[in-house]
Amino acid sequence: MAKYEDVVNLALRRSLFYPGSEIYANAPAGLYDFGPVGATIRRKIVETWRKHLVQREEMLEIDGALIMPEDVFKASGHLTNFNDPVTQCKKCNTIHRADKLLEEKTKEQYREAMPVEELTAALRKHKLACPNCKGDLLDVRQFNMMVKADVGVSAKASCYLRPETCQTIFTNWQRMAKTMRIKLPKGIAQHGKVFRNEISPRQTLLRQVEFSQMEAEIFFEADKIDDVERWDEVKNYPLRIMKAGSNSVEDITCADLLAKGITTGKLIAYYIARTQQLMERLGIPASKMRFRQLDDTERAFYAKEAFDLEVETSLGWLELAANNYRTDYDLLGHQKGSQKDLQFCTPEGKKFIPHIWEISIGLDRTFYTVLELCYRSEGERTWLSLPPAIAPLTAGIFPLLSNKPELTSKARELFETLRDCYEVQLDETGSIGKRYARMDEIGVPWCITIDFDSLNNNDVTIRARDSSAQKRVKIDALKDELYQLVTGKITL
Ligand SMILES: [Zn+2]
Repeated sequence: MAKYEDVVNLALRRSLFYPGSEIYANAPAGLYDFGPVGATIRRKIVETWRKHLVQREEMLEIDGALIMPEDVFKASGHLTNFNDPVTQCKKCNTIHRADKLLEEKTKEQYREAMPVEELTAALRKHKLACPNCKGDLLDVRQFNMMVKADVGVSAKASCYLRPETCQTIFTNWQRMAKTMRIKLPKGIAQHGKVFRNEISPRQTLLRQVEFSQMEAEIFFEADKIDDVERWDEVKNYPLRIMKAGSNSVEDITCADLLAKGITTGKLIAYYIARTQQLMERLGIPASKMRFRQLDDTERAFYAKEAFDLEVETSLGWLELAANNYRTDYDLLGHQKGSQKDLQFCTPEGKKFIPHIWEISIGLDRTFYTVLELCYRSEGERTWLSLPPAIAPLTAGIFPLLSNKPELTSKARELFETLRDCYEVQLDETGSIGKRYARMDEIGVPWCITIDFDSLNNNDVTIRARDSSAQKRVKIDALKDELYQLVTGKITL
């Protein structure tokens, strides 16, 4: 099984991701840049989310501004609730996350939401000191994680960078309801950057200051939570569920999730199934997943039901997505804050504030997890067994030898033919073994080689990344062959 370090080393070697502004010594931690391969894989994860969740469920996708006025976050509760508990060293002034210090010391879970007095008492009880200088620690206080971004020159408007993408969805709701001929239930989705003033950014992409989310908010009428049009498509689908209070994962069908009272509505079971299916498409096997049902003490105060999607990695179970039944909390809050009527009006004239089921997926954590679970090594060989849909290229094209013009020109010709339909890259430098290794390491599923026989027979060799199997294919049949491979109709 691949370790975290293997993934980070590969990422740095092939420039998938690396620290932002890395040539400057004083660049802050928790900011990452993505090179061409990393950026492409991430873009394709977003495209897969778009195709298999957003478009499949006929959601509306928006792209909102990153900067939002303070009033939005007063209404959402972020200004008062979006805090991390911190403690400061009296001697060196370093600020630490109080809950994390306690976790490291006691190996027990401490909740961020625990009252500061209790955390202070726990710090004293366990006689914790500053990990840097052993200095005494001040009482625990709340630190707001929002990143301020005031706008304007003379009369400044108090603004923040958004800490989650869903707030734009809520502020867009009234317009969508009026202009997009919405019929409930309706999802509104958004993918984009969010910002959190993280006290201790760590583990590269897993806890960053700037990161990306793929969120979908499904608006529905509370009384009609069981009206799910395509229920039959999922009702027998086995979900990976870990019930609150249990420590084992069970396969429970959508229908049983309701029958056993684990959830209160078909709509919830339906979207948990769609979320699990999406993750499977990204190369995360169901056996590595669990939807952990949160108990009363763990749920956000507005959430009526919540299931964290967690995936087993070398670092333990990692939360990739939060699934929350947010009820009418958000729209009621913004209705009060904005003084605008945010009710939905049915064609029959019935008015109400819709309820919301949220699927909030962390893109960066999903990207990391996919890399780790697809990482393979055998002897000298290392490869990423990425599903073709998220691989950075469909195929590499190589002339067998780089110093034979007849081979290189034939390879270029093939590159021109294929690039209309597929993402292909021509690689003419280094030994053929090195070229295979480079493509394997970034997860390219197939490589196509032009050799001397190709000149006479008009055919090529295709080699598969995972099995190293090879096959001779006529150039005329190559587009079709690649189509069959990409769509999984055949394997080499
Ligand atoms: Zn200190």
